[in-house]
Amino acid sequence: MVAREAVPPFANSAVDGYALRAADTASVPVTLAVVGSTMAGSYLDRAVGTGEAVRIMTGAPLPPGADAVCMVEWTTTSANGALVTLGRSARPGESIRHAGEDVVAGQEVFPSGTVLTPACLGVLAGIGETTVLAVPRPRVGVLSTGDELYDGPGPLPRGAIRDSNRLALLATVGQSGFDALDLGLVRDDERALRAALLDGAARCDALMTSGGVSVGDRDVVKAVLEELSGGSMRWMQVAVRPAKPFAFGEIGPGAVPVFGLPGNPVSAMVSFELYARPALRKMAGHEVLGRPQVLAVADEALARRSDGKLHLVRVVARYAPDGLVHVRSAGGQGSHQLHAMALANALALLPDGAGVTRGDTVHAMLLDPGTAMPLDPSLPDALDTLGAGPASRASGGAP
Ligand code: AMP
Ligand code: MG
Repeated sequence: MVAREAVPPFANSAVDGYALRAADTASVPVTLAVVGSTMAGSYLDRAVGTGEAVRIMTGAPLPPGADAVCMVEWTTTSANGALVTLGRSARPGESIRHAGEDVVAGQEVFPSGTVLTPACLGVLAGIGETTVLAVPRPRVGVLSTGDELYDGPGPLPRGAIRDSNRLALLATVGQSGFDALDLGLVRDDERALRAALLDGAARCDALMTSGGVSVGDRDVVKAVLEELSGGSMRWMQVAVRPAKPFAFGEIGPGAVPVFGLPGNPVSAMVSFELYARPALRKMAGHEVLGRPQVLAVADEALARRSDGKLHLVRVVARYAPDGLVHVRSAGGQGSHQLHAMALANALALLPDGAGVTRGDTVHAMLLDPGTAMPLDPSLPDALDTLGAGPASRASGGAP
């Protein structure tokens, strides 16, 4: 994106005050004649001559002839407003925001591949570019499979469990910046599943199922995906825990990618993190695909058994007063124990072995560094320690 306009488009005042010629204020106090006034959105054609000043508001175009603005706090205006007295000299250029100081016309503001953050959208609006070429968000259809699942209100029928995966996956798809489409809960029934998947494939850029992909599952999900993918599904056992079973393929006339996540709720969410989210980010045009990882201090032992797999332990990560990230277990680590996943904001990566003991360092994948890395409450407020304490933050007073 190359800017066709400069920002600011014209020199303007950074403060409320008086536009004047700096040379007139070399010796102070000095009194100047107020020959006009100008506000943001207006334009004063009257030039500022020697011994003159123009009352100017923040954002107003600098009138011709002026080369500085003295902020109103340093001035005294006569009762009728015709004269202004300055107690302090103005430097040439003082309190002026020059044309192009933010963006110069012809400048490349964003290279291709830029993620359009809120500030980027503001910059684009500021240069008058209201239409840009962008990679659309993938629309991801999410469906649950399993005869044991119950979706309604009221008490659970005997032997049934509630469908927790669909809501969790829809939310995590949305939170990751993709458009989530609820394709519902589908019984372990070939016809119903085939119809749901084909309907989803016609409406979505990618599909995500949960359940029915593990070894030993009833063959319904497997049979239907195998059929719709023309035999191209890959049924994987990944050397991680949780999130070991995983299936991937493309279905329907549009070869829509399908992520077959396991049914266990933690496995489903961790599979999303490890396999689906990076792929969907790539579809969305992102260059950075993975979550950030930090080296953290374990505040307690995170034990495990050697089994040839990488373990991903749900942990609570916090910045501590020593400036390091510290982690501790978020609770029960079974792949059916979603509560600890809900309390966690990171996954500690434990390579094969016996785990770590208290005080050891461990790699941690931050699931939500923005909202999920609260400052340790014992840390002082950085604004206060850096000198922007409540009193001075309240503004007003001498500049
Ligand atoms: P599956 O992968 O279908 O063999 O399911 C593995 C485990 O996850 C079983 O205990 C299922 O009951 C459970 N499960 C499957 N789907 C869901 C779901 N949508 N919500 C909660 N639990 C589920
Ligand atoms: Mg199942």
